[in-house]
Amino acid sequence: MAVATNEQQVIESIPTKLYIGGEWVDGSEGDTIGVEDPATEETLVEVASGNKDDAFKALDAAVAAQKDWAATAPKERGEILRRAYEAMMARADELALLMTLEMGKPVEESKAEIVYAADFFWYYAGEANRISGHYGTSYNGRGRVLVLQQPVGPTILITPWNFPMAMGTRKIGPAIAAGCTMVWKPAKQTPLCALALTQILEEAGLPKGVLNLVLAKSSGETMEPLIKDGRARKLSFTGSTEVGRTLIAQAADQVLKVSMELGGNAPFLIFEDADLDAAVEGALLAKMRNIGEACTSANRFHVAGPIAEQFSERLAEKMGSLKLGRGTEPDVKVGPLIDESQQRKVKELVDDAVSKGAETVVGGHIRDGRGYFYEPTVLANISDDARVLKEEIFGPVAPVKDFASEEEAIAAANDTEFGLVAYVFTRDIKRALRVCEGLETGMVGLNQGMVSNVGAPFGGVKQSGLGREGGHWGIEEFLETKYVAINL
Ligand code: NAP
Repeated sequence: MAVATNEQQVIESIPTKLYIGGEWVDGSEGDTIGVEDPATEETLVEVASGNKDDAFKALDAAVAAQKDWAATAPKERGEILRRAYEAMMARADELALLMTLEMGKPVEESKAEIVYAADFFWYYAGEANRISGHYGTSYNGRGRVLVLQQPVGPTILITPWNFPMAMGTRKIGPAIAAGCTMVWKPAKQTPLCALALTQILEEAGLPKGVLNLVLAKSSGETMEPLIKDGRARKLSFTGSTEVGRTLIAQAADQVLKVSMELGGNAPFLIFEDADLDAAVEGALLAKMRNIGEACTSANRFHVAGPIAEQFSERLAEKMGSLKLGRGTEPDVKVGPLIDESQQRKVKELVDDAVSKGAETVVGGHIRDGRGYFYEPTVLANISDDARVLKEEIFGPVAPVKDFASEEEAIAAANDTEFGLVAYVFTRDIKRALRVCEGLETGMVGLNQGMVSNVGAPFGGVKQSGLGREGGHWGIEEFLETKYVAINL
């Protein structure tokens, strides 16, 4: 299938090289990464791939730029972010198309991500001016306490493919605001968004060396020596818990400050007193946003016994009516999964649940033909040992399980090593607060199916991560606190 003219133009409008020290350069071995359209399985374009030598050049550039960058006026850093925000909004349609081509989600959803991603720049443009400190009398009256907040230093950023713009801006925005320089390695599946964003920041006036972009076929070999080098003082990672664990161990060598936004297994609880219409709408959003490929995706639905069947049927009716297809086509609501291995994993999880007695209310199959499509699927009567309840699905599959009491619902929700987000639907305010307090997660959606918000602290507990992104919490991750004891 040929790429349409406007698609070709959008692809050709962005650079395809690494960005190091303010220059667009090829990888030192001349290697490239083929960027695939997951809807057609065809290669859209080849982009440069770097190795550890290129990554070290990027780190050298970040280290060299750190001192001057930290000394720039907060207003100047904020102005760069504001200009980048405006450029993203002005180019939102073409950026959305670019995202859909490499990642698969429907263009409408890509556009929503561009706005969300740009808002991080808008937010941190202001936050740059609000880095504060403290001056006070010592508790014993003998001297003064001065507290400064200073940039942590050169930072390594590693981001996933599922929100290829927003996972970048959620780190780059606060890092710029705080005065940190960066080496950014995005996922090899979605380098085009990262290239476009880097180009936007260059055009917005970001000084040379502040942001360095490294694309790499072999992420581990390329990044491990950098993490262990010690000159970067922080590692901020978004991705799977498995890789996060490895990176925490690597960061331990030089005791880097780490932020980890990791995997999830979000429970979605619906109590008998819930507004069922709202719960079905919330469930659809929490399950189907990003084709189910979100860390915040509702992974399992725990529903009060008397309404479980009705809920499954109503959700199945909605999910079954969603149009599957290439995200550039009109009315498409469900794009392809990112690749064949993700498609295979979703199939395995559904087959496992069905082999253990689950009933398929709707869907349950790979869609035949090109592209990594999987049908929106609702599974009922799930057995406790089904893998789908324990593992992050990352696909359009909704397992529904009933519960008999509030205590059972909370225990089931917390029965996981993950703790990113949970959703609760109830109209009883006392129950709502009891359940929110009892959930072992960093975030809760109360009577709503989405929690992402640039001004709120996004992040998880347990094996879903360390640290928070968004709001003033997000910039704290890029600042160190220094205390000066003053002898008067
Ligand atoms: P992933 O496999 O962990 O990869 C994430 C990033 O790490 C990619 O850039 C990847 O590069 C890189 N990477 C992989 N192995 C590495 C290594 N040994 N050393 C250095 N870098 C390495 O995750 P993914 O499949 O891209 O993303 C899906 C996961 O991200 C899910 O678990 C999801 O829940 C999680 N996620 C969490 C949040 C959150 O905020 N908590 C948000 C979004 C996604 P390559 O892919 O190029 O190898």
